[in-house]
Amino acid sequence: MGTSYHIGSYAGIPVKLHWSLGLLFLFLIYFGHEIVQLDSIGLFWFLFLVVSLFLSVILHEFGHALVAKKYGISTKDIILSPIGGIARLEHIPKKPRQELIVAAAGPLVNLGIASIIFLCLFIAQHPLSIPIDSYPSNFKEFLRFVFWLNIVLFTFNLIPAFPMDGGRILRALLSMKMDAVKATKLASMVGKFLALVMLVVAVIKMHPVLFAIGIAIMYMAGSESKQVIRQEKLKNAQVQTIVNNSFTRVSETDMISDVISNSKNSTEKNFLVFDHLGTVVGSLPELFLKNYDSEEFLSNSVSSIMSSKSGFLDASASVMDAYEMLNDQGLAIVGVNEGGSLVGVVDRDDVAAFIDGL
Ligand code: ZN
Repeated sequence: MGTSYHIGSYAGIPVKLHWSLGLLFLFLIYFGHEIVQLDSIGLFWFLFLVVSLFLSVILHEFGHALVAKKYGISTKDIILSPIGGIARLEHIPKKPRQELIVAAAGPLVNLGIASIIFLCLFIAQHPLSIPIDSYPSNFKEFLRFVFWLNIVLFTFNLIPAFPMDGGRILRALLSMKMDAVKATKLASMVGKFLALVMLVVAVIKMHPVLFAIGIAIMYMAGSESKQVIRQEKLKNAQVQTIVNNSFTRVSETDMISDVISNSKNSTEKNFLVFDHLGTVVGSLPELFLKNYDSEEFLSNSVSSIMSSKSGFLDASASVMDAYEMLNDQGLAIVGVNEGGSLVGVVDRDDVAAFIDGL
């Protein structure tokens, strides 16, 4: 993602601005001053409008984040960049109903902002039609622009294509009727079809902006759905399908040289380490063996270099659980238990091979 600057927090959620936003802002100053040739008051309202757009996007993201928080899902941060905002949720809500509400909360914030401005301008009897070929020159005009910006944010985000909120809403609605992988595939197809329609219209009408949006949606719809489908498959596959039941039990008193020479003729690269009673006391990741592959260490015992970390999963756990445990706890290998006793192991390579095969 590159460097982002923390500008503040709300409800424990840090808000960060991507550095390239500064470049965009400089370009817009140049654009307003040199190309459109706004006077200083016009330039002030124009830049204030840009800031309001950023603010509307941040509030949109807080809509997602605060509703997710209600469901116990925390948000790592909200990052704003020239291509948009993103609330980095810990994970997507697992229940379709919750996913639906979290996804809808963002666009609803924009609808809320637009409604408040609508009411104000209506009372002030200020026109609300789309401002074309003009720039705001006073506060009421500025509000009219902010109103339309939020209407555009609301509408654009409801396009039912990944990664727009509309795509997630559609997926959540479909998930209520069918399994998640099918729902994701179908939602992704709808998105691609829409993108195709946009491309055709863009070519007929010679509209470059619409063409760019169509290409972007086409590309992103595919990658998002691949990722979701991959996650669903990881969740649905049991760790039993990749478990290694005939694993080597390395003892903490074994010599490092023995472990290395044995692993050279085997596909096993990471090991659980046992004490003389047969209890797991740690693990020996491949990386450690590589680091200590020098003469002076070879005659040492495994206990001198092993990691005291180890983790265990139940055989009924999913491959996703294994993936998360390996990553979250920084493990290279985990033991698999069945009925309380160790029956096998799963290491990073096993999970990686499974993911590659998807
Ligand atoms: Zn959103």
